[in-house]
Amino acid sequence: MRRTAFTVDVDRDVNVPLPGKRTAGSAPRDGDGSPRFSSSARGLILLVELLDELGIRGTFFLEAEAAQHIAAEVDLRRLLRGHEVASHGLSHEDLTGASTGLPFTDAERGDVIDRAAKVIQGLTGRPPRGFRAPYQHADDALYKLLAGRGYLYDSSATDDIAGRWIGPRALPCGLIEAPLARGTDVRGKHIHSYLWPMHEGKRRPDDYLHLLDQYDDGLMVLATHSWHVVETFAGPLDELQVEANLNAVKAVLEKALERGLKFVTLEEHVGGDRHGE
Ligand SMILES: [Zn+2]
Repeated sequence: MRRTAFTVDVDRDVNVPLPGKRTAGSAPRDGDGSPRFSSSARGLILLVELLDELGIRGTFFLEAEAAQHIAAEVDLRRLLRGHEVASHGLSHEDLTGASTGLPFTDAERGDVIDRAAKVIQGLTGRPPRGFRAPYQHADDALYKLLAGRGYLYDSSATDDIAGRWIGPRALPCGLIEAPLARGTDVRGKHIHSYLWPMHEGKRRPDDYLHLLDQYDDGLMVLATHSWHVVETFAGPLDELQVEANLNAVKAVLEKALERGLKFVTLEEHVGGDRHGE
């Protein structure tokens, strides 16, 4: 069966790793690069409304600090009712240090994971059972830390679609990896199942429908950023642009439903009947 998951990284607006710093900033606007959360809050609300309208349950990877800021404006427990909540770190840490040049010890990474989980549980009433590393920067040591804490899965990797199959795989530490997908576009070039290039005007809904036609079995994980329907790397969008951006996401989801794809949360898929895949 062809299944797909719609996942949203709920993180600080236009997040950027800062060399030598643990916590991420936002792309500078008017010379100010301190973290901002307003686009993420608005984008989250718009995306949840869209999913609820379409009857799709999503998986929301919450950056704990972003979630705290958003919770000042909206009741996350209520908003995300019916959807899965998972973890996207505490303050959008680059956990491998690949971009910041500042690696974490296992103890420090464990502390980030645990503090994030505590905040997320406090705001939503549910403990996260899945994890996506900020910037998708993950490694075996991180997977082991998650497995040791009883997490079900990680969703930080990107796998190529092979033999018309894409889906979760078991890691040696016992954790399940539910990767994003990489396939080809109509011109034969690589395309990832992360929708952000569409928000930047570099891809169209049809590109992702073409990607969704490249597997016959398994689970394809689609992903986006909450803020990215409201603001791009170039700056905030006006109202018409926000509407067009949201309509592009809607087009992908509606046409996926028309193609008979079944939407599931990652927790549901990984924790449920993955052995039948
Ligand atoms: Zn992120």
